[in-house]
Amino acid sequence: MSTQAQLETLKHKLREVSDLSSVGAVLGWDQATYMPDGGGDLRGRQLALIGRLTHERASSRELGDLLKSLREAAQGKALSEADAALVRVAYRDYERMARLPSSFVQEVSEHTSKTYMAWTKARPANDWATMRPLLEKTLELSKRSAAYYPEFSHPMDALMDEGEPGCSLTYIKPLFAKLREETVKLLREVQARPAADVSCLRGKFPIAQQVAFGERVIRAYGYDFNRGRQDTTHHPFCTRFGHGDVRITTRYRDDDVGDGLFSTLHEAGHAMYEQGVDEAFDAGPLASGVSTGVHESQSRLWENIVGRSRGFWSHYYPELQREFPSFQDVPMETFYRAINRVEPSLIRVDADELTYNLHVFVRFELETELHEGKLAIRDLPEAWRAKYRDYLGVASNDDRDGCLQDVHWYGGLIGGYFQGYTLGNILAAQFFESAVKAHPAIPTEIARGEFATLRGWLRENLHKYGRQYDPPELIRRATGQELSVEPYLRYLRGKFLEPVSKG
Ligand code: ZN
Repeated sequence: MSTQAQLETLKHKLREVSDLSSVGAVLGWDQATYMPDGGGDLRGRQLALIGRLTHERASSRELGDLLKSLREAAQGKALSEADAALVRVAYRDYERMARLPSSFVQEVSEHTSKTYMAWTKARPANDWATMRPLLEKTLELSKRSAAYYPEFSHPMDALMDEGEPGCSLTYIKPLFAKLREETVKLLREVQARPAADVSCLRGKFPIAQQVAFGERVIRAYGYDFNRGRQDTTHHPFCTRFGHGDVRITTRYRDDDVGDGLFSTLHEAGHAMYEQGVDEAFDAGPLASGVSTGVHESQSRLWENIVGRSRGFWSHYYPELQREFPSFQDVPMETFYRAINRVEPSLIRVDADELTYNLHVFVRFELETELHEGKLAIRDLPEAWRAKYRDYLGVASNDDRDGCLQDVHWYGGLIGGYFQGYTLGNILAAQFFESAVKAHPAIPTEIARGEFATLRGWLRENLHKYGRQYDPPELIRRATGQELSVEPYLRYLRGKFLEPVSKG
């Protein structure tokens, strides 16, 4: 078979894998939005079947042989840059999958769903004793999973590689240490100032109006409703079926106007990334965001850097006041300070922009210690409290608001995910700074409710490439530099240490 014919066969096979997995995504989206409770058992069977078929095709010997032969062609420079990237990424996905014996995959999946079901009851009941043996098994499975990739020098590196290619503990540890030190310092300075009054955010806010307001904003951001839609769920998410269909979900509370709005802006940021990937990559492994960190940078940028900025609200606050009369007597500055209030708290998902990363460091460091054998699962609740006391100055008496709070360890493996949130915060500032350097009018445009220049820069420099470049190269191409924490520190200092008199 000629190289060209092999490439066509490969694309056909990869399209089938991608289509199968998007069938699974449609089922998952329906389960999280409209499916009646009674559909649960059937949906579980359907998802398991689609999952098995996808895995069989994605790890088939024919696909592997084709990829090996095309890798040689790529090394001989017989492929275009995009096709070479396709082969490289598809081979990596294949290799990762084919390394794991199906009996192990099965064992993980059974243990994970058992643990998740137990956790949904144990967390509200503050029942650590039930979760402890399950989590011990999860740690063992996590270590075994990492051991299938012996080329990595640390189990955390092996676990991070899938979602964060090019990242390692050696790289991330000093980065996080510096950010932690600077954040704790900054937090002390912020806490020495008068606390913002957040009472204006509480009240009665009809949900239909919240939905309408949020949709107007994300339409202006550039989320394309012709290729997407928004629905309601318990845990907001963004899901991609293909170039023509990238959906978001949000939840609303009628007593809190911020919850629904900022989660809408967040998910729209993820979705605009997916909508912006080059259509030519569709239905193949390049057609998605490149890493959890870069993905999170897009959601954080639109949620926080734009959506919590003074410029943004100088345009949108009068509209918010028209929509919700309780704001009519609230000065914009009061509202701005309320949505940007800094206050150490116990729960990661409710954390403010400044203290959020401290929650991430707690988890990332504990995961690392667990994998290194320096911490045992039985000592996790106390170790959790000690780190919260140390970094945030608060600690919960119970485990419900301690080490039982996040789904990640109870619905998956231990290690490989949390770092993405902080990398996202860091990168959001770095990308925004580069965009403004290229187009200095961006901040004044935001204050007029115009976002096309910013969106265009992100699309041209990040979105359209999908997974074509690994994160380190993508960041270099977009910003001319390696990942750096400095733009983020400048952003945080500028925002949270501005002269008090300004308000
Ligand atoms: Zn996100």
